[in-house]
Amino acid sequence: MKNILVELDNVSKKFLVSKGKFKKENKYVHAVNGISLKIYEGETLSIVGESGCGKSTLGRVINKLLDIEEGKVIFQKENITNYSSKDMLKYRKDMQVIFQDPYGSLNPRMKIKNLIEEPLLVHTNFNKNKREEKVLELLDMVGLSKGHAERYPHEFSGGQRQRVGIARAISVNPKLIIADEPISALDVSIQAQVINIFKDLQEKFNLTYLFISHDLSVVELISDRVGVMYLGNLVEIGDKKNIYNNPQHPYTEALLSAIPVAGVGQKKKRIILQGDIPSPIDRPEGCPFSTRCSYVFDKCRKEMPKLEDCSNDETEHRVACHLRNKKGRI
Ligand code: SF4
Repeated sequence: MKNILVELDNVSKKFLVSKGKFKKENKYVHAVNGISLKIYEGETLSIVGESGCGKSTLGRVINKLLDIEEGKVIFQKENITNYSSKDMLKYRKDMQVIFQDPYGSLNPRMKIKNLIEEPLLVHTNFNKNKREEKVLELLDMVGLSKGHAERYPHEFSGGQRQRVGIARAISVNPKLIIADEPISALDVSIQAQVINIFKDLQEKFNLTYLFISHDLSVVELISDRVGVMYLGNLVEIGDKKNIYNNPQHPYTEALLSAIPVAGVGQKKKRIILQGDIPSPIDRPEGCPFSTRCSYVFDKCRKEMPKLEDCSNDETEHRVACHLRNKKGRI
């Protein structure tokens, strides 16, 4: 039986974009809409979707950088939904974030050794010698050397800076790492190296990752489970093999059809979605994908599909589609 580290129960987050005269006329961006999911200890759950689908907001909701309007956030069996920043201090160490732009998240005036030492100063009572020892150990773990410790971030490549970001994140032995597009800014050859570091560290420290990405080919390399988001909704979730070998939601099918196939002469029919993503301010009624789905029928425009089991075996596979859930198939 796997232990649940994080549980989201019907979580919603909206942002006010314009104020009307009356509260009813206020306009909101619905970034996350009624999402329920679990993240198990030691696994990698990836969240994929186009830009603006709400996946980064979901990450920020989990580590309480954003408060939510509805639902519950449970971390290590504790309901942290209404915790203040002060209450969250004891959990900050356990939930670390790795950002897409490592350069933007590293203070350019600080040496690499001081950047890696910073979380140790905040979250541990290590003395100076112990901290220095730990910094060298962390540099080694992420494939950097002692010589890098005295340098500044601008002397590093993108891949090296992301290694520093990873070293900072793991320095305080977190339980959960939220990696928000951690390799999208890197060259393809470097991406593979950084993915390998993520995997090695997970094995060594039993880390749990929430891996946020728009790139399904990268996600396939690192995930145990995959969730697909569209317009703030979780439209499909399941074991990696179910999502990649037997996608059920028409949106997931379209995303997967865009992955290039390796091998000479190998071809895959690409599904080109018609129309643009609707505005998250004026969401369509019923299924959020109804304006672009080639299978759309009457019910889709009236009723929001629930995320329901569509698995053929014991493994997890759930989809929010009137056509593809078990009832729809009958
Ligand atoms: Fe398409 Fe209807 Fe399924 Fe939505 S519910 S994905 S519109 S078939």
